[in-house]
Amino acid sequence: MDKPADAGALLSVIERHWGYRTLRPLQAEAMQAALSGRDSLVVLPTGGGKSLCYQAPAVLQGGTTVVISPLIALMKDQVDGLQACGVPAAQIDSSLSSGQRSAYEMDLMQGAVRLLFVSPERMALPDFCAVLRRVGVKTFAIDEAHCISHWGHDFRPEYRQLGRIKELFPGASVHGYTATATEKVRADICRQLNLKDPLVLVGNFDRPNLSYRILPRQNLEQQILEIIGRHQGEAGIIYCLRRRDVDDVTAILRARGHQALGYHAGMDPAERKRVQDEFAAERCDLIVATVAFGMGIDRSNIRFIIHAAMPKSIEHYQQETGRAGRDGLEAECILLHSGADAVSWRAILEKSAQENEVDPDFLPNALRHMNDLDKYCRGAVCRHKALVNYFGQQYDPPIPPLVKGGLGGCAACDICLGDTEPIPDAVVVAQKILSCVARVQERFGVNHVISVLRGENTERVRNLQHDQLSTYGLLKEYDKTEIRDWIFQLIGQDALKQEGDEYPVLKLTELSWQVMRKQRTVRLLRPARRPSAERAGRSRADTESWEGVDRGLFDELRGFRRSLAEERGVPPYVIMSDATLRELARLRPSNSDRLRLVYGIGARKIDDFGDPLLRAIVAYCERGGLTMDVVPAPTAPPKPPKEAAMNASRALAFSQFRTGAAVEDVMHQTGRSRSTIMDYLCDFIRREKPASIAAWIAPDLYARIVAAITQHGSDRLKPLFVALGEQVDYHDIRLVIAHWTRNG
Ligand code: ADP
Ligand code: ZN
Repeated sequence: MDKPADAGALLSVIERHWGYRTLRPLQAEAMQAALSGRDSLVVLPTGGGKSLCYQAPAVLQGGTTVVISPLIALMKDQVDGLQACGVPAAQIDSSLSSGQRSAYEMDLMQGAVRLLFVSPERMALPDFCAVLRRVGVKTFAIDEAHCISHWGHDFRPEYRQLGRIKELFPGASVHGYTATATEKVRADICRQLNLKDPLVLVGNFDRPNLSYRILPRQNLEQQILEIIGRHQGEAGIIYCLRRRDVDDVTAILRARGHQALGYHAGMDPAERKRVQDEFAAERCDLIVATVAFGMGIDRSNIRFIIHAAMPKSIEHYQQETGRAGRDGLEAECILLHSGADAVSWRAILEKSAQENEVDPDFLPNALRHMNDLDKYCRGAVCRHKALVNYFGQQYDPPIPPLVKGGLGGCAACDICLGDTEPIPDAVVVAQKILSCVARVQERFGVNHVISVLRGENTERVRNLQHDQLSTYGLLKEYDKTEIRDWIFQLIGQDALKQEGDEYPVLKLTELSWQVMRKQRTVRLLRPARRPSAERAGRSRADTESWEGVDRGLFDELRGFRRSLAEERGVPPYVIMSDATLRELARLRPSNSDRLRLVYGIGARKIDDFGDPLLRAIVAYCERGGLTMDVVPAPTAPPKPPKEAAMNASRALAFSQFRTGAAVEDVMHQTGRSRSTIMDYLCDFIRREKPASIAAWIAPDLYARIVAAITQHGSDRLKPLFVALGEQVDYHDIRLVIAHWTRNG
């Protein structure tokens, strides 16, 4: 297929099977590559929707797409999920009997399988490849493609042979999918897979629905209990550094009546599998684990991630927090940080370097990664911004900073929400700390410096005669944890450093002297004095996505979903996502026409379990006297974007639209995708109100869409899409709405 596939046809396939009516960023482009047979590498963050990029084209295109995936558990979830959406999918793995295997191969030969999931090892079997050749497989999708690169953080030797696919299947296209961001790994993946002129798509690494908080670890037990307390009945993972910590925290939680399960690599495999299954089936919502837990966990409604200690690197932090909120709803990520974490990591890494045969780069590399994260934790910059910048991208804050009393930026991190505040006399405090380090002649560690600054009357201080120093007692009004925190904040800003492995001592730096000479300022933060409601863990996304939702009904529907899932032996989230449950509990449909309008409900699901679902909703609403068939509040008219946000390609597109240029031409001129240009066009119509849009929408189509709008209103797109026989592109509907509501 050379010409771009019809975007409308693709959207209606997605609508029919998955019940989604819009695409996430870059999905359209990624799907187009799969449809047109151009090799591609798609880099989207966890939860970005990579799977749909190969699943939907496979359905539209017909034939069989082979998906290579590293873990059997991951494959099984996907196969279950696809079957629930009415997509013929299968997996061939070593757990099948030879009878089952030949049955599947028969289905394959008859072209009855749209998506076939296999392990990389299976792709190395010549007999298996022969079967695939006979079937005429044209498309290969490689999940977790970074496993092919030894620069990545998860190299798997069995991935290496996937480089031969291009040679064994000369006519086929190969598509890699990964969440690993670095440039080096990306280039290596393309090379290792032998991709030919690949389209490389790199998504935005920001996850706006996650809120990030990095808080000083003070009383771990109390802090964890407090966080769990505000997530009653929701799913969360608590990550610990060591197996011992996992056992301790699990015991504490269980003693407090929380149904927590522990998970670490030291447990036997059967027990580990049981824990994973309990969590996936929503019979358990709370997992305490080492990083061993996560690969293969696809549960989409994880609402919080707690790091009881700092993880290994920013990449790990991004990946582990990325497991939260994959359904796009709000989720909270809290890292409880302490200066001791970096010290523990150093010890762990050095031990591991000594005990294992590692290449000489290992230790310096690992320490550098760990230090980057340590700096991130101590930093005073918006967490969303710092993360995205680390991955080499720009961050556009949704709220301009410094409005409304300092709230601004992402409105979803400790810095922007004001959990911490700068202390007014930071430079003076810093000077006191630094001169104390100078007075003890850069020969003592953090604890002793704190003792001196606080004017403690201990034997050690007296013996060393440090009670005679001019800096003795200079910060006596502050407590230990506060001073310790500032010392580490100074280290984070390179205004102080630690040296020595066994007994690290504080040393001054170039910058220390500049601060002491008042040639430089520094910033020191402390926890905000008056925590606001906003700081109790509720971000903006949170309040918005619960608006109008009946929580009782939501819980009831979770139960409905769980029993349906148990009946079918699949995880609940493959049946419906939490976002769909909330929409159901908000709109409370009483019949199948209304049900069709709900996000995430496609025709297949209505046939499958629409009736019992409606019965459950109706029964609940009647019991509680709740109104049903709620008409959603019209979405506020989109605000015209700020003039400043008008970037170059948009400006170019606008000038073209003024001459009535066709969408394809503008795509060509700007190098932007169709969906971006259609968004520009929609915006253009809203802002410039052209008298006619006949250049982009034929008059008879325009009339049909207007007829549908008069009947169904223009607040929601899906009813219009349905009324138009599911044949009209969503973009076209949006254009007409924009024009008609402005001029009509
Ligand atoms: P990734 O593999 O990139 O981590 P997934 O493919 O698992 O992400 O997708 C995360 C979740 O988002 C899944 O529940 C998926 O069904 C959902 N999703 C994907 N694309 C869309 C879309 N266009 N609209 C709504 N939900 C989507
Ligand atoms: Zn922020």
